Amino acid sequence: MAPSSSLADRLADVRARITTAAQDAGRDPASVTLVAVSKFHPASSVQDAIGAGQTVFGENRVQEAAAKFPPLRAHNPALRLHLIGGLQTNKAKEALRIADVIESLDRPALADALARAADSEGRMPSLLIEVNTGDEPQKFGIPKEEADSFIRTCRQRFGASLQGLMCIPPAEQDPTPHFRLLRGMAQTHGLPVLSMGMSADYPIAITEGATLVRVGTAIFGPRPPTA
Ligand SMILES: *Cc1c(COP(=O)(O)O)cnc(C)c1O
Repeated sequence: MAPSSSLADRLADVRARITTAAQDAGRDPASVTLVAVSKFHPASSVQDAIGAGQTVFGENRVQEAAAKFPPLRAHNPALRLHLIGGLQTNKAKEALRIADVIESLDRPALADALARAADSEGRMPSLLIEVNTGDEPQKFGIPKEEADSFIRTCRQRFGASLQGLMCIPPAEQDPTPHFRLLRGMAQTHGLPVLSMGMSADYPIAITEGATLVRVGTAIFGPRPPTA
């Protein structure tokens, strides 16, 4: 799409590609949820997306999300917020207050912090475990070889709140084997939600079974530089 296209046009284009990818894979397009990743973009851009019918958003920093979303929610009760970024344990309580879904549960210390926060706050969002499918040292996510036991432990601890898995494949690689690995793990553990696919590869992720795609740039354009 031309850079001059409107946010509504870009959103419509992404939705159309989701529908096509799902249909080509013999899937119901309604089985794929678009998470519009609004990180670094102002609340006014989120408002534009809401105006174009988008209700599910993703943010990767708790502080930014906490500043942006509660005011928007006051006027748009249907809004759903997914936290998709690496989460510090000291942010667990705030994360749990504002999020509908936390997609980045990736270590026992964070599971502990979320369980404690859930006790004190009396609420628990849906949880996805982030798996570092490429075992990249600089990336968030539970290492592949620890994933099975971590998933089992979280299942016992969080019950139905644990809904699925998330991954971010290595930037320079074919994402397909990573998507397949994640789907296999989710199947093994009977987890229904698979969050995979970003602007560059969400149609492929849908072919491979994604139920959530996290799309930022293709909707909001390039992220503005941070201050
Ligand atoms: C920023 C981000 C995205 C969106 O990336 P785009 O390439 O802009 O679509 C998706 N997932 C996570 C975890 C992110 O941090």
